[in-house]
Amino acid sequence: MFDKVLIANRGEIALRIQRACREMGIATVAIHSTADENAMHVRLADESVCIGPPPASLSYLNIPAIITACEITGADAVHPGYGFLSENDSFADILLEHKITFIGPEPEHIRIMGDKIQAKRTAIDLGIPVVPGSEGGVEDPVEALRIAKDIGFPVLIKAASGGGGRGMKVARDESELAEALSTASTEAKSAFGDGTVYLEKYLDKPRHIEIQVLSDGNGNAVHLGERDCSLQRRHQKVWEEAFSPALNAVQREEIGSIVANAIAEMGYSGVGTVEFLYENGEFYFIEMNTRLQVEHPVTEAITGLDLVQEQIRVASGARLTQKQSDITFEGHAIECRINAENARTFVPSPGRITALHPPGGLGVRVDSAIYQGYSIPPYYDSLIGKLIVYGKNRTECLMRLRRTLGEYVIEGVDTTIPLFQDLVGHPDILNGDYDIHWLENYLAAH
Ligand code: ADP
Repeated sequence: MFDKVLIANRGEIALRIQRACREMGIATVAIHSTADENAMHVRLADESVCIGPPPASLSYLNIPAIITACEITGADAVHPGYGFLSENDSFADILLEHKITFIGPEPEHIRIMGDKIQAKRTAIDLGIPVVPGSEGGVEDPVEALRIAKDIGFPVLIKAASGGGGRGMKVARDESELAEALSTASTEAKSAFGDGTVYLEKYLDKPRHIEIQVLSDGNGNAVHLGERDCSLQRRHQKVWEEAFSPALNAVQREEIGSIVANAIAEMGYSGVGTVEFLYENGEFYFIEMNTRLQVEHPVTEAITGLDLVQEQIRVASGARLTQKQSDITFEGHAIECRINAENARTFVPSPGRITALHPPGGLGVRVDSAIYQGYSIPPYYDSLIGKLIVYGKNRTECLMRLRRTLGEYVIEGVDTTIPLFQDLVGHPDILNGDYDIHWLENYLAAH
């Protein structure tokens, strides 16, 4: 097992990882930019190293500075969290060269899944169902039209190197195709440095359902059920729950075992998420995230497992101790992403927290790194907390969520709490009757 883990991240996820390490008796090193000197993840770590000025490109993404911090502190492993360097295969390579363990999968698996075209090919080879579309990148409008006619309009043009919902364009018919193709490619080139785009059938009313996996790289893999992340704004998840209101136990086991077998066959190591769109009873693979996800606590709530500790154990070379039959699911959990943003306009609202009272009580978890008097810097993601609520069933969970949202006080900045207060009373949400477009439609109408 590791003696000391450097956590290459900030905010709630840095704290989350520190907590896992501390319970395992592992010392922690925080890194931070000059904007984060007073951040909670720095205060609570055993050691901390300032690695650069506020912009992430000069600090949290500064690989040489992070390697130096590892060497100065003698850290023997790095946990990347999510975002930042978590899916950067060259970072994983460089750590390997320095004999520091990257707490994540093999760089090769990050590489394969980071290229969405290659990821889709791999999924097909492993027997995972995918969205119908082009076999590889598409440049020529004539070829694009042939493929689009073949799969049927509307089609979605997606960036091979895309992420965070960026670089996607819908073409509803032939007249929109050529322009959508060229704007998507230009956008992809400027956002990701790679203009390669591909075509996919645009699904009209799917749900976003993802399967959490845990694997040790030695052919042992389990699935930990699904999360339904259909409530999205600009392709970004806002609310996540397990179970999905749309699946039953048989469907869960069916898709879960397809994914777990595929992951075992790949020799994948660590935690990962295989994301699907789900429509009319069919699953369609869209991508795999080779890291811990923001919404992992929802799965922890229904399985009782600590995903970060499992991830650290596997990275240290341990075999999985669980078989699929050891994994049991109980109750229902919902996570709301609390952002420092206006709940109507979604304009970021950095600034000082003047009052803070997080909710508590049975079945309530708040993962957050803010405190009263803390100033949210303007340089980073606006996520300031995650409220995760657990109940014996979905109804109890929703009632508890309503109760906790009423208790939550964050003053001094705008937050998205009022949005969740509206959502938790809406009949469609109460009935679990929503797809990936529901929230955008709701926001447009209110
Ligand atoms: P990213 O890596 O940018 O997050 P994804 O492939 O994971 O991209 O897709 C993000 C979101 O975009 C999905 O959750 C879904 O809402 C939407 N989306 C992706 N592919 C399709 C598709 N073929 N049809 C309809 N919506 C899609």
